Amino acid sequence: MRIDVITIFPEYLEPLNVSLVGKAHARGLLRLGVHDLRRWTHDRHRTVDDTPFGGGPGMVMKPEPWGEALDEVTGAAGHPQEGSPAGGPEPQPPVLVVPTPSGRPFTQQVAVELSQRPWLVFAPARYEGIDRRVIEDAGTRMPVRELSIGDYVLAGGEAAVLVMVEAVARLLPGVLGNVRSHQEDSFAPGPMANLLEGPVYTKPPVWRDRAVPEVLLSGHHGRIERWRRDEALRRTAALRPDLIERTEPDAFDAADRKL
Ligand code: SAM
Repeated sequence: MRIDVITIFPEYLEPLNVSLVGKAHARGLLRLGVHDLRRWTHDRHRTVDDTPFGGGPGMVMKPEPWGEALDEVTGAAGHPQEGSPAGGPEPQPPVLVVPTPSGRPFTQQVAVELSQRPWLVFAPARYEGIDRRVIEDAGTRMPVRELSIGDYVLAGGEAAVLVMVEAVARLLPGVLGNVRSHQEDSFAPGPMANLLEGPVYTKPPVWRDRAVPEVLLSGHHGRIERWRRDEALRRTAALRPDLIERTEPDAFDAADRKL
């Protein structure tokens, strides 16, 4: 997968070189490009913002640098995209991801969808956001996803990009040692969709007089699986009853219903 990020704070994205995403990058599973938006300004002050039409507080990011940056990074001016085989099928355009508190929620399902695309371009904003025409213009050439990481307001979209890139990258083939790790996570499509994962334990079997639940030491896979599902259901009912309410009734088996 290729990921490009356009930002006025390239250094904010440095954590992408660390840990799981950093390793994926180093191993060539992910190609990462971080671009300074100010490269596409043409005035002495390298201005990226201006006052909002209609008045009001704060500043709005100007369309010109964003437009030029997106044209160049995505090759939208009709140039063949990098990596497309000569005479091969039309390359897929990137998905433009615009982090914004006014977007649709970024969920595990969205992370799965994005992980199946070959190329993502992130456009994190600052101030009051990006001039709307930039999003509309890009939308004529590529799919645009305006996504929120939660019902709160950050100072800028870079932290949201870190969140989304990490959630997507760990789903890419080869990034996690064992694919079961993410297939059994909270929210994973399948039996865990709409469920929170229950508690986990490791050695030693007794610590500060607290014993690991006996079933986990039994070696009985069927019982362990049932126990894990029961714990996931209990935790979800206690902490996120909204998730249970939105689950189709036939997603619960007879043992689930006894709980
Ligand atoms: N005026 C905007 C509003 O009320 O919707 C908030 C702008 S916020 C101060 C600046 C930038 O931070 C946003 O344009 C977006 O890139 C990012 N941001 C803030 N909160 C976010 C969230 N919950 N999810 C994703 N991005 C967020």
